[in-house]
Amino acid sequence: MGNRLYRSAKLRMATLRALVTGGAGFVGSHLCDRLLAEGYSVVAADNLLTGRLSNLAHLRNEPRFEFLQQDVCQPFDPGKFDFVFHFASPASPVDYAKHGIETLQVGSLGTFNTLEVARRSQAVFLLASTSECYGDPLEHPQKETYWGHVNPIGPRSVYDEAKRFAEAATMAYRRYHNVNTRIVRIFNTYGSRMQINDGRVIPNFMRQALRGEDLTVYGAGDQTRSFCYVSDEVEGILRLSRSEEPLPVNIGNPCEFTILECAQEILDVTGSRSKICYEPLPKDDPKQRKPDITKAKTLLGWEPRIELQQGLKMSLEYFRGEVAALDANLTSPQRD
Ligand code: UDP
Repeated sequence: MGNRLYRSAKLRMATLRALVTGGAGFVGSHLCDRLLAEGYSVVAADNLLTGRLSNLAHLRNEPRFEFLQQDVCQPFDPGKFDFVFHFASPASPVDYAKHGIETLQVGSLGTFNTLEVARRSQAVFLLASTSECYGDPLEHPQKETYWGHVNPIGPRSVYDEAKRFAEAATMAYRRYHNVNTRIVRIFNTYGSRMQINDGRVIPNFMRQALRGEDLTVYGAGDQTRSFCYVSDEVEGILRLSRSEEPLPVNIGNPCEFTILECAQEILDVTGSRSKICYEPLPKDDPKQRKPDITKAKTLLGWEPRIELQQGLKMSLEYFRGEVAALDANLTSPQRD
């Protein structure tokens, strides 16, 4: 008994090491912060295709943090870890349309290579998967047991199928190589460090509202999304990593908004007098999306705390700064 207590105290004191691929990205960098706050030592790997070093600049002098510029599509050996979080991938529809092949590669080759790192380390491997696995869902809200309604050859397929493949690869490494895996299905998430020009609805509407431009609603704006504030998302991911659940878990906010309602929330929060204009709906744009989070609630005792209005207010200063930086760049004279 005494010996066991001593061993568990020693375990608690040992610093856990975590690898975060995509660590310079939006969710990845917030995850790095949270892991550091929990006492882990963290290596962030990123090839900076869509991630940004500025998301990690505040960690420059943190001795428990290391940045590794690495394309995870190439085999890599960054050392031993207790946890491996695979978050590398372009994630906004505009980014993955622009980098379609890289998106397929990071979901396939990148997932294999990162699974290999976890296998060598006997680490817990957590895959950042997505609500896009459900495609344009015919079941509403979406439960983890729903297999989805995905167009395998449409413009979104580079992302959807890459993530579905990544889930299959993760389950295969569990079955064939005994890797201790977790899969989180992330729903629309927002907050600081989103790129102002990544084309997603919240940065687009924020940018447009803060500049007094029209808010571009695609289609009639009656399609729905359910938005989760980034700190809630990261809390759910951390809890899942510490659980024993091998099957996918939805982590998202179940409060559902039409895109028109989302536009109105942003006009309210920014106090902008921008108008709404309508543009064509992109192909295969999901009509509705809302997570069923019963599993996360029961299994992890997790549910989101921050509602959309509050989260938008908390993100406002960040978006103001990004818009100011964008405008300063646009107006400053070109230099050679
Ligand atoms: N959308 C919009 N205007 C924009 C950007 C996006 O109406 O300027 C819509 C888009 O058509 C989709 C929803 O907002 O129905 C969410 O789009 P986003 O790109 O944020 O992510 P998705 O959930 O589609 O992956």
